Amino acid sequence: MPCVRSATERRELLKAVYEEARGCLRCPLHQSRTTVVFGSGNADAELMFIGEAPGANEDRMGLPFVGQAGKLLDKLLGEIGLERRQVFIANTIKCRPPGNRDPHPSEIESCNEYLRRQVELIEPSVICSLGNFSTKLLRGDPTGISRLHGHAEVKTIGARAVRLYPLYHPAAALYTPSMLETLRSDFRRIPELLAVGPPAQPEPTPEIPEPPELPEIDEAEGVLAGLPELDPEVQLGLF
Ligand code: URA
Repeated sequence: MPCVRSATERRELLKAVYEEARGCLRCPLHQSRTTVVFGSGNADAELMFIGEAPGANEDRMGLPFVGQAGKLLDKLLGEIGLERRQVFIANTIKCRPPGNRDPHPSEIESCNEYLRRQVELIEPSVICSLGNFSTKLLRGDPTGISRLHGHAEVKTIGARAVRLYPLYHPAAALYTPSMLETLRSDFRRIPELLAVGPPAQPEPTPEIPEPPELPEIDEAEGVLAGLPELDPEVQLGLF
């Protein structure tokens, strides 16, 4: 029997993943981050955007795409009649790499489970990967964005089949007018992709019973205890 979860149920599970992520110690980026930038928007969005990694502004505010690249993203969304609150925006990795360096493969690997669970719980039809890092990760292939942008293909991410639509990263387009025009014209095709609806979904694999719960480790409790009390509804901007 396929496992059909209501939007309310998926949203609650997404909040639980957020709670888990914000105390994450899986990679060394936890030592330098200010905030885990989990992602924000509509927990039941048809359209998701996956960027690269939080920058300084995002790290400070705990929200993705709040700088110049985010303003451009909002503008491009507006041009196709969408608002940020209707979509879900996340990143390949949830913590800022020091000095905005490229994410390391081991960091992407450590963070991948959060992204997979986000996709499985939000159940989007279309995912726009922004730039090389998310495109390579979600395609499982090193082909670069300049060859792939504007071409949608069906990809399965965890248990969810989506239309993956690679786009240039808005931060790159900010300073290159020709790239901005390409990004804009690729963006204009998003409504027709959404109109097609989700691709056929894979057969669900039978559920493996969860192992019994282990007692909580003190270290993780310590980290969570040191965090400010953030309301997941506010952080996620869930509607
Ligand atoms: N660039 C990204 O890839 N993600 C952000 O959140 C901000 C800038």
